[in-house]
Amino acid sequence: MRHGATTAQIANVTARIEQMGCQAHLSQGEERTIIGVIGNGRPIDREQIERMSGVERAVSVLRPFKLASREFHPMDTVVPINGVSVGGQKLAIMAGPCSVESHEQLMETAQVVQEAGAHILRGGAFKPRSSPYSFQGLGEEGLRILAEARKATGMPVITEVIAPELVPLVTTYADILQVGARNMQNFALLHAVGESQRPVMLKRGMMATMEELLMAAEYILSHGNQRVMLCERGIRTFENYTRNTLDLSAVPMLKQLSHLPVIVDPSHSTGKWELVEPMARAAVAAGADGLIIEVHPHPEEALSDGAQSLKPARFAALLQSLKPIAEAVGRTL
Ligand code: PEP
Ligand code: MN
Repeated sequence: MRHGATTAQIANVTARIEQMGCQAHLSQGEERTIIGVIGNGRPIDREQIERMSGVERAVSVLRPFKLASREFHPMDTVVPINGVSVGGQKLAIMAGPCSVESHEQLMETAQVVQEAGAHILRGGAFKPRSSPYSFQGLGEEGLRILAEARKATGMPVITEVIAPELVPLVTTYADILQVGARNMQNFALLHAVGESQRPVMLKRGMMATMEELLMAAEYILSHGNQRVMLCERGIRTFENYTRNTLDLSAVPMLKQLSHLPVIVDPSHSTGKWELVEPMARAAVAAGADGLIIEVHPHPEEALSDGAQSLKPARFAALLQSLKPIAEAVGRTL
């Protein structure tokens, strides 16, 4: 719409779009309003729309993702999560153990990461393990422990949901639903987390392109759930010294293509605690909106991912070292 288009003109165009059997998605910024149109397969007469009063231009969005695209929504999306914002000027730091192992382990970790400056507590209760013989997580007991830690610290919690039928259960305990890399294209799960209307962090599949990640996000957004965060967690390449290859170029690329916040996971992408610090710093420099980092009070005893978990003191030092980097790119911690 033209700069200064009236509410009546916007309503008129929206009504015409809906009459044509299409969906209209309004994005109102300070400068201008954009009405995103999702068609029904039939051609749209762009010139007809352009002749309507208040319309500046009608352009085709050729990308396959629409709701996730910058064209539909030029402003950055900020996801509010019970007192914490993800996607704004302030970086969001999520930290905690790979798996919830016990009440003591989680409480101790929650306290130390909070003191160090983390905003959101992570911890897996349902673990998607490569081997059926590995620790599978404490299940609902783990969710209960997470809820206790939230009560004790006030920090919102993020935990993974691995199946559509578990969404109602996980939603009763968690503030953010995590869709793991192995489930990025589990469309039944994307449908269920979309319907839940709960904030979702969608992790990039280890063999997924950025476009496939954005199409997966589109599934969630198309259920009216706008609180979606993307997470780059490393992709599989021929390189074996690291667990995965952190695709840092995905950060500025995704932010150019999409308005959704981008979180980086330096833990799963490297698999080595020594690499977590440098890659976390690089992620902030590259423009990430936040980090998700595994921290364990005794990594040598961890039931999963001990090799990539930071000890509390290292995590605290890391957050301190991120401050000048955040400042250099116009962000705060
Ligand atoms: C996790 O964050 O707990 C996890 C299993 O990560 P990913 O899905 O990226 O492997
Ligand atoms: Mn892990």
